[in-house]
Amino acid sequence: MSDLLELLERVPGRGPEAPPEFGAMLDDISRAFGAERTLIALYDPERRSLRGTVGRNVPADLVEALQVPLTERDDPLVSALRSGIPQRVRATATDPRIGPHARDILLELGFDKFVVASLHGETESLGVLLIDRKAELTDQDLEALVPAAMQASTEIQRARDVDRLRGASTRDAVEREWLWWMVNSVADPIVVSDEQNQLVLQNKSAEKLFRVTAADVPGRAHAVTMNNVLFTAALSSWNLERGTVARPREITLVDPVEGSDLIFEVIAQPATNYRGGERGMVCVLKNVTELRLVSEELTRNVQRLQSADQEMRLERDRLDLILRSVPNPIIVIDSDDQAVSMNAAAQRLFGAPQALGGPVAAGRRQDLELRNNAKLASFIAQLRLDPGVRKSGEIQVVDPESEEQLEMAVISTEIRDDVGVPVATVTVMQDVGRYRELERRRLEQALFDSEKLAATGRLAASIAHEINNPLEAIHNSLYLLVNKSDPSDPDHKFLAIAMKETERMSRILRQMLGFYRPAAAMAPTDVNALVDEAESLVAKRLRDRRSRIVKELDPALPKVVASSDQLKQVILNLMLNAAEAMPNGGTITVSTRALGGGGARILRSDAVQIQIRDEGVGIPEEHMSQLFEPFFSTKGEKGTGLGLWVSYGIVQAHGGSLQVRSREGEGTTFNITLPIGGPASG
Ligand code: ADP
Ligand code: MG
Repeated sequence: MSDLLELLERVPGRGPEAPPEFGAMLDDISRAFGAERTLIALYDPERRSLRGTVGRNVPADLVEALQVPLTERDDPLVSALRSGIPQRVRATATDPRIGPHARDILLELGFDKFVVASLHGETESLGVLLIDRKAELTDQDLEALVPAAMQASTEIQRARDVDRLRGASTRDAVEREWLWWMVNSVADPIVVSDEQNQLVLQNKSAEKLFRVTAADVPGRAHAVTMNNVLFTAALSSWNLERGTVARPREITLVDPVEGSDLIFEVIAQPATNYRGGERGMVCVLKNVTELRLVSEELTRNVQRLQSADQEMRLERDRLDLILRSVPNPIIVIDSDDQAVSMNAAAQRLFGAPQALGGPVAAGRRQDLELRNNAKLASFIAQLRLDPGVRKSGEIQVVDPESEEQLEMAVISTEIRDDVGVPVATVTVMQDVGRYRELERRRLEQALFDSEKLAATGRLAASIAHEINNPLEAIHNSLYLLVNKSDPSDPDHKFLAIAMKETERMSRILRQMLGFYRPAAAMAPTDVNALVDEAESLVAKRLRDRRSRIVKELDPALPKVVASSDQLKQVILNLMLNAAEAMPNGGTITVSTRALGGGGARILRSDAVQIQIRDEGVGIPEEHMSQLFEPFFSTKGEKGTGLGLWVSYGIVQAHGGSLQVRSREGEGTTFNITLPIGGPASG
């Protein structure tokens, strides 16, 4: 603001130079008093002195050189000004009241004697009037001088007022001009609103938001109208808070050109125009749209970071938990062979890593831990020599707690950084000794079971063989007796029962003998044809039970070296069992397919599979282990419990396998897998 005032001072039209009317006025006075020379010295408030301003019949360039400070109270000019009483100076050269400087100038101006009268306006002293006349001024002259001075004062006063006014209005215009520049060179919109919150003044930037012009397209005009409404409404609500603590105020306006939202922070300052007494608001609008977007983006990023951090922590905890709860020993070793992480299972074998501050076990236990460590270290050292990043093998360690020998399968993997430098080695172990022991036991059990089955089979077969001949004799005898006896004889029915039961016994024996008969000749057999034959044999029985057979036979099925009679018996047994498992009927699906190389469980590379699937009652879990035992049956009187036992024996004799899968209430699937070359031994 001070710069502005300074500029205003320099504006022409203001300043100490006297208006030309003073010359005419002096002429009038000179004439009225017959003065030889006259001079007006006006009071200069800045210098606090009287200064020569205009003169008549004096050297013009000297006029302004006359200066008398008001502090020189004795000086006749000063005392005339102060007292209002005209002062007479008879001899300038010798008058003791006049200072040396003023004296020289006065003499040069020609005032070797003079009368000085004060000039004053209504409220202020204006200056003094000096008159020099050849003839000394009389007292009447002096008296007449007072009204003349008065008149001159009035004139000076008026001139000065006019001058001041003119200066003032020029100053206003200039100020306005600068204000215009000031307000419009600001990029932020600035507005002034009246008491009704209507916009009364705005700078150029504000006009873009708030002023409708005739050239506006409807879209822009609408946006501008909206902005006015929004702003007035906002101002109304803020006005209510007048006098409360200022807080950042915000308003969202519409960009009239883009149509997008603009967010402004508004600095609102209540203002009063003292000239008119109106009150209003001066508002500076700061566009913070970008800022807000950036800060929102920042907030989002921070949140994203935080949640990522949290997720990472969760992930780490989860990993930790997994590591801790895995029963396999896991060890992470850094590139200096220092263990940096070990789970509990690993610590049990190798002791806590020193870095983790675990207690050092004492005595024998520590000894065992050290030995384990040495074994692991040499295993990992080997890995370093190998070009690969992974190495697997086995080491023998001792459980320091139970002192049990453990066979550990070890897999060590080198972890490398971006540039391929190894930074850590992760080692995972698996106690395979225990696993192997379990596997061995399982195999032993299976062997034992199958031997038991075979032994039972052999025993049963030899008994069957021994019983078969006497039973034939009994059967024949009974046959004769039944034919001879009279059907009306009350004993006839006992003979019939004996006949029926003997027949049943021989049926059982036949089934057993059929399987253990010395192996029938094996020949390449068309399994699909066997399925067809078996189907025709059971067709009638199936029809009675409202069951049907669906066949999915592989037309390219290779022939299998087998005993066709025995194999047919197996397929028959399984079909009948399937039918019997579906008391209310259903579908039995029989399919055949060739098994390629590695897919087979059996050792031969090529095999065929026969699958018999039903939708019957299924087999309860607890029956599974007994299924293939002789005489196991859930069918009471009607079952022999030999079908599966015999079938199992036949399939095994062919070097194949018989497997069952079942789900109670849903059905059962039997898979016969046969090597196409027949049994391995011959
Ligand atoms: P049997 O048929 O004379 O009972 P098996 O040796 O053929 O003797 O079958 C033994 C037992 O196995 C049957 O009693 C039955 O409980 C069960 N079983 C065999 N096949 C099936 C099947 N497809 N669905 C349900 N249970 C079956
Ligand atoms: Mg059966």
